[in-house]
Amino acid sequence: MASSIVLFGPPGAGKGTQAGNIVKMTGKPQVSTGDMLRAAVTAGTALGIEAKGYMESGQLVPDAVIIGLIKERLTESDAINGVLFDGFPRTIAQAEALSEIAEVSIVIAIEVPDNRIVERICGRYTCGACGAVYHDLFNPSNDPNVCDECGHIGMKRRADDNEDTVRNRLEAYHAQTSPLADWYRERGIFSAVNGDQDIVKVGEEIAAIL
Ligand code: ADP
Ligand code: AMP
Repeated sequence: MASSIVLFGPPGAGKGTQAGNIVKMTGKPQVSTGDMLRAAVTAGTALGIEAKGYMESGQLVPDAVIIGLIKERLTESDAINGVLFDGFPRTIAQAEALSEIAEVSIVIAIEVPDNRIVERICGRYTCGACGAVYHDLFNPSNDPNVCDECGHIGMKRRADDNEDTVRNRLEAYHAQTSPLADWYRERGIFSAVNGDQDIVKVGEEIAAIL
């Protein structure tokens, strides 16, 4: 398989927001484990039933579940030229498993301080059809119910986008995910951008790296 890209960063860093442009630039499909898990929860599959409790409490879903999900996803035909991973890997074990099944050419970390994360996540809403990401204050849609991208009427807010769960998600990030930065740095493929600036500027920094 050709090389894949990893979008890395804490919850609410802006990975989903930036993913659309990266997909347009590279032609690689976005593979978001969070989106895949939420779809499984909504569909009520065995995977969704297993994942739901972890997600609601802001803990990571067990590695074996996530690795199985990714292995299956990478067998799909659109993954042949590599993909854009968003929210995966999130543990060293996931990164090790990934290194056995796919080549990662670059890891782009979006860096945002913790004190910005709660306000970002608590104001997040997304289009119920195309998944475009908005924010009540920082990136509102022209009409709060209508998607600027696809015209769909109906926005969604995530059940886990509340202050208590965000704190657990941040804790999980620092304990289990942030050590991956050094893991990828040691492999010479880690680049960081300043995520604490305007969305367009973050996108420009990413484009410069790519
Ligand atoms: P992630 O995918 O990393 O969890 P999102 O892309 O969903 O993060 O962004 C989280 C929230 O922060 C969204 O409501 C989004 O509109 C907003 N956001 C994203 N990037 C920025 C930015 N650079 N400045 C301010 N708000 C942002
Ligand atoms: P996200 O959409 O990336 O914010 O993820 C939402 C939730 O899904 C997380 O809080 C975890 O419970 C779960 N999740 C998503 N991706 C992973 C992953 N790679 N490893 C473990 N849990 C994950």
